[in-house]
Amino acid sequence: MLVLKFGGTSVGSIENMIHVKDIINNGQQKVVVLSAMSGTTNALVAISEYMKSKNIEEALIVIDALRNNYSKTITSLLSNTALHTEVSTYVNSIFKELETLVNKPYSILLYNEIVAQGELLSTFIFSRYLQQENINAVLLPALDFMRIDKTNEPDNYYIQQNLNRIITGTPDADIYITQGFISRDAEGNIANLQRGGSDYTATIIGAVLKAEEVQIWTDIDGFHNNDPRFVENTKAISNLSFDESAELAYFGAKILHPQTVMPVRALDIPVRLKNTMSPASYGTLITNEVHGEGIKAIAAKDNITAIKIKSARMLLAHGFLKKVFEIFERYETSIDMITTSEIAVSLTIDDTTHLEPIVEELERFSIVEVDDYMSIVCLVGNAIIFHADTPNLFQILQDVSVRMISYGGSNNNISLLINTSDKVESLKKLQRYVFESDSVLV
Ligand code: ADP
Ligand code: ASP
Ligand code: MG
Repeated sequence: MLVLKFGGTSVGSIENMIHVKDIINNGQQKVVVLSAMSGTTNALVAISEYMKSKNIEEALIVIDALRNNYSKTITSLLSNTALHTEVSTYVNSIFKELETLVNKPYSILLYNEIVAQGELLSTFIFSRYLQQENINAVLLPALDFMRIDKTNEPDNYYIQQNLNRIITGTPDADIYITQGFISRDAEGNIANLQRGGSDYTATIIGAVLKAEEVQIWTDIDGFHNNDPRFVENTKAISNLSFDESAELAYFGAKILHPQTVMPVRALDIPVRLKNTMSPASYGTLITNEVHGEGIKAIAAKDNITAIKIKSARMLLAHGFLKKVFEIFERYETSIDMITTSEIAVSLTIDDTTHLEPIVEELERFSIVEVDDYMSIVCLVGNAIIFHADTPNLFQILQDVSVRMISYGGSNNNISLLINTSDKVESLKKLQRYVFESDSVLV
């Protein structure tokens, strides 16, 4: 079995839906995971924001605009009258439901229900389009088998049992279409795998079905060596290891949800990144194998907060770090980077939900400084810390104020903490001097 995931842009226009149909229609049995059509989840998030601020009128305007877009899409896509009527009835029922939901008092459960509608819409529309094209596809509702537990981890046993039961019940289908991103929580409520979570759905399904390969089809020809949203002339990398891609995805490479490779890494199921608009391009193959040497790719993660903890008494005295870590653990706040000196320890977090009580507790035994609007720039490559080019980093970034450095935590990663205002310039400089061979250091 193969698992193929198509992202928002891939199902975001009629032209691209036709590309997806052509890619999946090759007689091989597969599970196809779809995201919401591009822009839909953002619109649904905006609707819930308006609902939260009790601005129902604005919420209804967004719902109306979205409904019009969907109505146009299905009219162009579905020439078969019966299928058009069926899809139209379904789409209208979803928008009626949204109108009912926005009039209720805001809660996280309602938010989860609202943002789930995008994937429900795209999969319904696409599965009926395949039916129109005489392709043997069935729709598997993700809410019947995807479940996360109380710690937000996938409940693999439940997923495996239920997905296999459903697939066994419809053995003759060539293509099983399902929703990415959405799931049930431990109580059976509608939940999700966080923004960008359809990639994660695909590898969770790939792992429970012991798929031969998971393919992530998107709008770019693979994993690039730097962030193409900010840097020109980035290039696709043919091969990445699970560790390298996990590190880059965690540190901001939007092409993959941060947890994507976790379910398949131990099972050694390859993940292939492909471009829906250019299927002939090689893309990127992610496996256990490590290729190349030196700096291979760079990513950056924003919204980082740095916390410096100074102590009048000897800081690294036995038990001090334990005391610090226990506070972060109690507030379920994970630490990304850490550096220490004799008189201070600096660390970074990206989730500031509990920042206030954390600082309050730290201040009981230390002086605390907090800096926000920081970014982590992460450089990844096989044995990067030993490579001859690596010392040049300091020369390349000589004009940038580097607040923290993490070097040697693993052989394959170097992380730098900088002000977010310096991020784009830093990424561009690194691109120029690290990857464009004719650029020389001054
Ligand atoms: P999808 O909707 O298919 O899930 P995403 O927008 O989530 O697509 O991810 C693809 C986008 O990720 C690309 O269009 C690109 O702008 C961005 N991106 C950020 N970093 C990278 C990178 N290192 N390599 C490739 N794409 C990246
Ligand atoms: N539609 C969801 C989002 O926009 C999930 C995804 O695209 O992977 O975050
Ligand atoms: Mg994505």
